[in-house]
Amino acid sequence: MRIDIISVFPDYLSPLNLSLIGKAWGKGLLDFRVHDLRDWATDRHKTVDDTPYGGGAGMVMRPDVWGSALDSVLNAPQGPPQLIFPTPSGHLFTQRAAEQLAQSEHLIFACGRYEGIDSRVADHYKSQSNVSVQEYSIGDYVLNGGEVAALVMIEAITRLIPGVIGNPESLVEESHNSEGLLEYPVFTKPAQWRGLEVPEILLSGNHAKIAAWRAAQAGALTAQRRPDLITN
Ligand code: SAM
Repeated sequence: MRIDIISVFPDYLSPLNLSLIGKAWGKGLLDFRVHDLRDWATDRHKTVDDTPYGGGAGMVMRPDVWGSALDSVLNAPQGPPQLIFPTPSGHLFTQRAAEQLAQSEHLIFACGRYEGIDSRVADHYKSQSNVSVQEYSIGDYVLNGGEVAALVMIEAITRLIPGVIGNPESLVEESHNSEGLLEYPVFTKPAQWRGLEVPEILLSGNHAKIAAWRAAQAGALTAQRRPDLITN
């Protein structure tokens, strides 16, 4: 999978070199291209923003600079790309969205800053047939920029690609899997720690009973902490 990320702070994306995702990049499973938006600015100050029409605080990112940058990465030879705008006003990014995006050959993340990107940019690319466009929020809070949100989405998406995670079984019993529940509590050695014991059932070796206990725990935990996942 090729992933282009456009940002005014390309150094923010350096964690992509680390851990399992960095290794998958090294193996050629992932192909990251991080771009500096200012490379497409046309004045000598490399300006990418301007004051908002209608007044108000802050600066808005210019559509002409974003248009040049996105046209350039959209011309890559991979299959039809998915263009993602991280934004707090987007649809909520979920595990289902990660699963859908993990099927793609080419993702492009357009990381906003300041008061965000001129709204015509997303509207323009939504009207184009050579790209599919999504605006995603990673949660109901506001970050300073789209880079951290892009890192969150990239990690959630790419760990689903075969070969990125060593043991694919790890992906089966997880929170937010196809059953939509939170994962049951997990334990390891030592069996006793600071007066706290591992639940007896997990030491029994009875796999059917362990599976039933875990399913019950997952249901109870979800009902307690995230009842919205059960009712939705
Ligand atoms: N003025 C915008 C608003 O109120 O909706 C917030 C702009 S925010 C300060 C700057 C950039 O951070 C956004 O363009 C977006 O790329 C990113 N961002 C902030 N919060 C986010 C979130 N919850 N999810 C995804 N991206 C976010």
